[in-house]
Amino acid sequence: MPSVKLKKGRDKSFNRKHPWIFSGAIDSVKDININGETVDIISGDGKFLGYGSYSLHSQISVRVLSFNPDDKIDREFFKQKIENADQLRNQIINDNLTNAYRVINAEGDSLPGLVVDRYADLLVCQFLSAGAEFWKKEIVEILSNLFNPSGIFERSDVEVREKEGLQQSKGILSGKTPDEHIEIIENGIKFFVDIDLGHKTGFYLDQRDNRKLLESFSSGSEILNCFSFSGGFSVYALKAGASKVVNVDSSAEALSLAEKNLSLNGIDSSKYENVQEDVFKYLRKLRDTNKQFDVIILDPPKFAESVSQIEKAGRGYKDINLLALKLLKKNGTLFTFSCSGHIVPDLFNKIIADAATDAGREVHILKYLTQSPDHTMLTSFPEGLYLKGLVCKVS
Ligand code: SAH
Repeated sequence: MPSVKLKKGRDKSFNRKHPWIFSGAIDSVKDININGETVDIISGDGKFLGYGSYSLHSQISVRVLSFNPDDKIDREFFKQKIENADQLRNQIINDNLTNAYRVINAEGDSLPGLVVDRYADLLVCQFLSAGAEFWKKEIVEILSNLFNPSGIFERSDVEVREKEGLQQSKGILSGKTPDEHIEIIENGIKFFVDIDLGHKTGFYLDQRDNRKLLESFSSGSEILNCFSFSGGFSVYALKAGASKVVNVDSSAEALSLAEKNLSLNGIDSSKYENVQEDVFKYLRKLRDTNKQFDVIILDPPKFAESVSQIEKAGRGYKDINLLALKLLKKNGTLFTFSCSGHIVPDLFNKIIADAATDAGREVHILKYLTQSPDHTMLTSFPEGLYLKGLVCKVS
């Protein structure tokens, strides 16, 4: 059996049930031939600890599959884990109102490197680690049997695959090739999802609950939706009675899909405006006019991809938040987010506090926000919390 032996005293993180073992903690490896294959994990003093998937290339050498030496890592093991994940979703997702959600959230569901999203009757998967890739055939079969989807589509066209020694990969794995646009419902609202358009697996499912919350700030409001992508926040706001929404995104495809989503929900084109522009520049343009808004949403892409980018990302977040705070009417509301895992909640709060000081505005925090609960987090894996948000009232 292939195995890894940890250095003496380097089993602390394993004992706290953290699912990653870094290369620096490994003393020696035995009989490992295939990238991603399953290995026994042995402590520095020879104790059999559990099982993991070994990546020949990543700094994260082992992703732990089981902390229990009595387990057997086979098809049944994965079936059980996938069923557990599904049961949890049955508790937290109302199927009548929402048919698009994250079915499997990788480490958060004790299935390292595996992401599966459901869009109506289609499943979209990402195999992000060598271990997930190693078990791909079995995983696709289990998903087919359990969910009976019309198709299983792969969106493993992401750079992290290369760190694992895997090529990027995209296409149909099982069933029929999906239509260009899949229609889903989320909290009873209809959306088209383009599973080909880049951005995760097609839709920002993690913002579901936060989009819902925006409804209560929408009635009669003029709203600026920055980084609007396919119009998620905008459709909720206009359905809830917003008087006008301005969508800002640098991508023409995203804005065109936003337009389709607004019209799918019967929203009159006089109620919104689409601006294809860099948000940093557009906010400056608005600053030089007298235009002000009741609500501003800032949901930018990940500014910090690595620890080395934290400082620069912090400046980016502060810049857009400072500009947005100045553009809010008295008693206006800011929905502001960061999806960079490297920007921890305390740091994000501090950035917003600094922006408030520099903008000369008094800012009340009404609510702390995070990812929707289908984007599961484990107490033993703090890295799983990546989406942070604040709802702020600005006086
Ligand atoms: N709020 C959206 C998700 C936003 S994703 C939702 O709920 O669905 C981030 C978006 O920002 C993408 O659509 C991307 O095209 C856009 N984007 C990235 N950098 C940008 C920039 N500098 N200016 C404007 N848009 C940008």
